[in-house]
Amino acid sequence: MRTTVLRQRRNSSADLSGHGSCSRKPFVSRFPSKNILRIGLLRRLFVILFGGLALWPSVATAQTLVADRIVQGGTILTMDPSRPEVEAVAMARGRIIATGSLREIASVVGPETEVLQLEPHQMALPGLIEGHGHFLGLGESLMMLRLSDAETWEEIVERVAQAAAITPPGQWIVGRGWHQSKWKEPPQPNVEGYPTAKRLDEVAPNHPVLLTHASGHMSMANGYAMRLAGVTEQTQPPEGGEILHDASGKPIGVFRETAQALIGQAQARDDQRLTPEQRVQRLRQAVELAGRECLQHGITSFQDAGTPVSQLRWLRRQALAGELPVRLWLMVRDDLDAVEKELPGLKSIGLGNDFFTVRAIKLSIDGALGPHGAWLLEPYQDLPTSMGLNTIPIEAVERAAGLALKYDYQLCVHAIGDRANRVTLDIFERALSSQPGPVSRRWRIEHAQHLSPSDIPRFGQLGVIAAMQGIHCTSDAVFVIQRLGNLRAKTGAYMWRSLLDGGAVVTNGTDAPVEEINPFLSLQATITRRLADGTQFFPEQAMTREEALRSYTIDCAYAAFEESSKGSLTPGKLADMIIIDRNLLNCPAETIGQTQVLKTILGGQVVYTRN
Ligand SMILES: [Zn+2]
Repeated sequence: MRTTVLRQRRNSSADLSGHGSCSRKPFVSRFPSKNILRIGLLRRLFVILFGGLALWPSVATAQTLVADRIVQGGTILTMDPSRPEVEAVAMARGRIIATGSLREIASVVGPETEVLQLEPHQMALPGLIEGHGHFLGLGESLMMLRLSDAETWEEIVERVAQAAAITPPGQWIVGRGWHQSKWKEPPQPNVEGYPTAKRLDEVAPNHPVLLTHASGHMSMANGYAMRLAGVTEQTQPPEGGEILHDASGKPIGVFRETAQALIGQAQARDDQRLTPEQRVQRLRQAVELAGRECLQHGITSFQDAGTPVSQLRWLRRQALAGELPVRLWLMVRDDLDAVEKELPGLKSIGLGNDFFTVRAIKLSIDGALGPHGAWLLEPYQDLPTSMGLNTIPIEAVERAAGLALKYDYQLCVHAIGDRANRVTLDIFERALSSQPGPVSRRWRIEHAQHLSPSDIPRFGQLGVIAAMQGIHCTSDAVFVIQRLGNLRAKTGAYMWRSLLDGGAVVTNGTDAPVEEINPFLSLQATITRRLADGTQFFPEQAMTREEALRSYTIDCAYAAFEESSKGSLTPGKLADMIIIDRNLLNCPAETIGQTQVLKTILGGQVVYTRN
């Protein structure tokens, strides 16, 4: 029996590794939608029938290796379909060396092996993968005023006033995370529901103030910042951007999409005055803060949705020096000429002990729904003069597609509106059809939030990954229906069920710092689609628990060509795992978001323990 089992395991391992040459829908078909719960029950039945013998498949291990550490007890969910639950996981030299029953694991346990014993209600699972976030942005956001929990504009004004009291005059006050649709009352005065600079000028007349919208697609500046930026009534916005004005024609301080650069450049000019040492110090601090935030929430790998070349180079040096706190897979986002020049030398796969990979290009074809920037096929329900914004020339996306094919990069395009998604799918289809054979390039649409029903099957057909964020569904729900109306929301918004049924791979994440990095909040949103007020946002599109867990582990790994080293507790893979305080397969769904991470293990080392 043992040899049979070993052969089976080798086969399944070969299946999972894929070697980057999978067919169009490789992962979906090879990772059948088994019900983990049911398999767990079958296993238990088997154990009862055969008198408690160690019956779960044994594991190929190098007999000479002794485990540094084993995790046992509780519920251990592997996300490996060949053995969904095991009694123990053994690791050595940063990798998983065996999984199976306690009896099987005994052969790799030595006198020095540390045992982590789970309590019966606890669960261990693979380290979670943030599928779309902004790593340095997350760190920087932790160095700014946090505005996401403000319930009124006045509360934000008050926080700026407090910051102004302790910040030397002339220095920037920056904040992030405001969202006008989440305030209890409209700001006074307002233009189209957006606040004006008036109150900021009252409390911070001697400081430039820049407050970025929760979506990252809009900014609010005060008069001082606009003067530094040279913005007047006559200033024209750059293409793909807008400057909001009041009835008298005066800019109110709100800058949409590319127009944000006007203020951003003024701030960057001030940043130029920092010494190189100060700049590096700031980056280091951002990395450290972001890393800490990830590890305490069980994130061991982070897919970064766009970093410029200069910062990628710096991060690569950090990786090679062993200074990165989590594993990064990054998309390059920069001026396209610079990207073209750098692509051949920039590609990095698994550098610094699998902490640093660059193999993807990022572009944004539209804005976000909250600030009416998502590019739609029909006008906004609540702004009938607008169909949103196309933020980059189509030819530029075509050019990037050509570069991605030429240098074998993944192409990742931010698309939120249904028109943005259709145009992106068209570009992908044209580019990919020029390629021979059924090889999936695993190109991705980042967000894929609002889809025309006729475009949904194209994700599965083209092998395009829908890189979505569960938490956006419930946090945006309040304004999705305002913006799109009921019918378009029902048939096109956050279509997880339809995408999965159509054979697409759907990943998960938080877009941190747009949302909190906490993956359990996003998992709960993915499984329940329930808002804080108790209502559900079209629950027929929810994922099952198993699908949601896959979207944060093995499917996310697939979306980065990393399923042979991450995403499941399988011998040979990296020893990245977490221990949490509840069983995600059977705890009440509305408590998933309260899950606490007790330990995070990265490369076989315990890097976080909850006090
Ligand atoms: Zn993003």
